[in-house]
Amino acid sequence: MEKRVVAFAEGDGIGPEIMGAVQKILAAAQAPIEWSPVVLGKQVYESGHSSGIAPEAWETIRQTRVLLKSPLTTPQGGGYKSVNVTLRKSLGLYANVRPCIAYAPFVVTRHPKLDMVIVRENEEDLYAGIEHRQTDDVVQCLKLISRPGCEKIVRYAFEYARKNNRSKVTCMTKDNIMKLTDGLFRQVFEEISLEYLDIQTEHMIIDIGAARIADTPERFDVIVTSNLYGDIISDIAAQIAGSVGLAGSANIGEHGALFEAIHGSAPDIAGQDIANPSGLLMAAVQMLVHLGLPDHATLVQNAWLKTLEEGIHTADIFRAETSQVLVGTQAFADAVIANLGEVPLLLPSACYSMPEESQELPSAAVATLPRPCARKELVGVDIFLHWRGTCPEELAMRLQKLGPACMRLALITNRGVKVWPGGFAETSCIDHWRCRFLPIGTKTIVHGDILGLLTAMDMAGLDFIKMENLCQFDGVPGYALAQGQ
Ligand code: NAD
Repeated sequence: MEKRVVAFAEGDGIGPEIMGAVQKILAAAQAPIEWSPVVLGKQVYESGHSSGIAPEAWETIRQTRVLLKSPLTTPQGGGYKSVNVTLRKSLGLYANVRPCIAYAPFVVTRHPKLDMVIVRENEEDLYAGIEHRQTDDVVQCLKLISRPGCEKIVRYAFEYARKNNRSKVTCMTKDNIMKLTDGLFRQVFEEISLEYLDIQTEHMIIDIGAARIADTPERFDVIVTSNLYGDIISDIAAQIAGSVGLAGSANIGEHGALFEAIHGSAPDIAGQDIANPSGLLMAAVQMLVHLGLPDHATLVQNAWLKTLEEGIHTADIFRAETSQVLVGTQAFADAVIANLGEVPLLLPSACYSMPEESQELPSAAVATLPRPCARKELVGVDIFLHWRGTCPEELAMRLQKLGPACMRLALITNRGVKVWPGGFAETSCIDHWRCRFLPIGTKTIVHGDILGLLTAMDMAGLDFIKMENLCQFDGVPGYALAQGQ
């Protein structure tokens, strides 16, 4: 059988131990893989690459188009970007697929029927990593949500559900608060759901959704959500299934794929041979399916299930009442190898096949819907100021003096709450003021009017830190009202 070249990164913390265990199992299963090592993470940061990825690693990954990666440690503090996020975004790996399954009664869980797949958007949201310190007291992280981004991930979730005989897709957002960003995600979900009438759909606000995952996870099948919410709920789901050490994930894009465990580098247990390699092993099973090696995927997963059934458990899932033998990382791998060719007796056995159940989607499936450009009309501007004063009336008076003839100060907010005109003395204010200017009467405004306003602010010694144009798109306002407006 022709060998598939796969890049692998040993990672940080427990990474080298669990990668060694997984590669040993795949070798014993005679998976036709030629491994191409890349170094990512801590060592690379320390050698001066703030991205955590050296140019030669990019070259290998872009050639192989498939990467099996152990977890990486992102150094705390500024100056370092997360390699994980950089890899996913630079390679266009827009879908993060995280199956979370209970293995009761062999792995203790209060939720024996838990069997869900979380499809998490991987390129946008607060993970765009666009952050700024704007004033003495305020830092900002930009939440970016795009229509093409939503369409790709929502369509992927529906296609995944269909291909894997799953009957329901639940969308989770916080659109009651973030009406434009999360509202767009939900709107796209509702539009695309009309193309998949064979699949049941529902929407939940993320807070009650997360609570229900923790309480009655068996009611969920496929969940589609944005980047941050997906990251959080998949850890909850994996943990209540038995351990964060059990779940693997696939990061899928049109040009490549990256497979990893959902957990981190677990520095607290690194180097002790006690980590559970199952998460990375399940990621490797997803990778074998992706590579068109369904028989090897089936062989490995069934040997792993049989090992769980035999009660051969690492410390994170070892419980006196259900486990038989407490093993370390390498002994667990040896037990899986000894079970190659076996199938589980009680747990549902794996049976992957080609090509229908491949999780890779044809590129047409992720094509975004063609849309005409909207008619965009400039109707005002929000200018954000770093101002150390405390009295909104005083700021309003200064701003009213400099407004150009075509625009008037309409509103001042502080942390999104209206403080002028007619604010409350009780509202606590910080040094970050949003000042909204609207046209006077029916006048139309142009970019030059905004430039004039900014220049006047500069001359008046006002420190503007950011501006946002207020636009209508086909007559619909593309901006939110202030709280209390
Ligand atoms: P973590 O997932 O590393 O650890 C959380 C807890 O789970 C710890 O108690 C740990 O011992 C335990 N745990 C994790 N994996 C385990 C396994 N395989 N077997 C047994 N127990 C396991 O989360 P953290 O401590 O918040 O993060 C540590 C580092 O990992 C951070 O630098 C973070 O940025 C990084 N991280 C990386 C990834 C990734 O590479 N994809 C994902 C998450 C976190």
